[in-house]
Amino acid sequence: MTTTAATTADLTTQGQALTVTGLTVQYGGVRAVDGIDFTVEAGQAVGVIGSNGAGKTSTLKALMGLIPRKLTSLQLGDKDLSRVKARDMVRHGIGYVPEGRHVFAGLPVEKNLLLGAYAKPWNAHTRTAVDEVYELFPVLGEMRHRLAGALSGGQQQMLAIGRALMAQPSVLLLDEPSMGLSPKLVGEIARVLQRLSAQGLTMLLVEQNAKLTFDVTSTCLVMENGKVAMTGTSTELSHDSRVRQIYLGL
Ligand code: ATP
Repeated sequence: MTTTAATTADLTTQGQALTVTGLTVQYGGVRAVDGIDFTVEAGQAVGVIGSNGAGKTSTLKALMGLIPRKLTSLQLGDKDLSRVKARDMVRHGIGYVPEGRHVFAGLPVEKNLLLGAYAKPWNAHTRTAVDEVYELFPVLGEMRHRLAGALSGGQQQMLAIGRALMAQPSVLLLDEPSMGLSPKLVGEIARVLQRLSAQGLTMLLVEQNAKLTFDVTSTCLVMENGKVAMTGTSTELSHDSRVRQIYLGL
């Protein structure tokens, strides 16, 4: 085992399959998500790409129970989460990095991380997990006493990911982690997500940045108008001429 895998092991254990069927979101007359089905296998990283308004963010918010939705089933491993309230989802193993980060701006970096572990009993592992987040994102360690609101956008994104990892999620949902970041920072986030995936973290990554998604995931769904228009391995889709034209601008 490499040093890297050993030092972040506490953040990436307990992966479980997430299975969703019949997920529908309706905003008044707009059907934003139209009865989609998908599975993220334990230890797998699955991407969801699609243009503006395709229904990606609504899919994640609906899975978390943050917006009204209909679904046939929502399973994490052998647990039925279809009736679990949003506030209890983290405790049941679903980690969520929302679009726009939403860090606690008035609290120090380290306090933000510790709050990410609120659903777990605090013990020696909590401290280890904080150190593992600093190992993944050294800049957060350097800034541990700074208020989160004083961090750059990229640093806040790292903090949002670190905070979600503190709960040792069975599956991590990420909503557009590249949004508003420079290409260099997008590359940094990609490297960390690749590393977490290589360590077995189960992940559902929603992105407009198709290149980042193909680099990080093994399988992708392409959403169009609330439906899953295509699925395939990330390698296959990255070579598909229509996907290349629409989502990679090639
Ligand atoms: P983006 O990448 O721009 O975030 P998206 O693929 O995540 O797009 P959603 O944000 O899920 O797409 O939006 C799907 C559809 O639902 C769009 O037509 C959008 O205008 C609509 N929509 C989203 N949120 C609301 C809302 N709160 N009220 C009404 N319509 C909404």
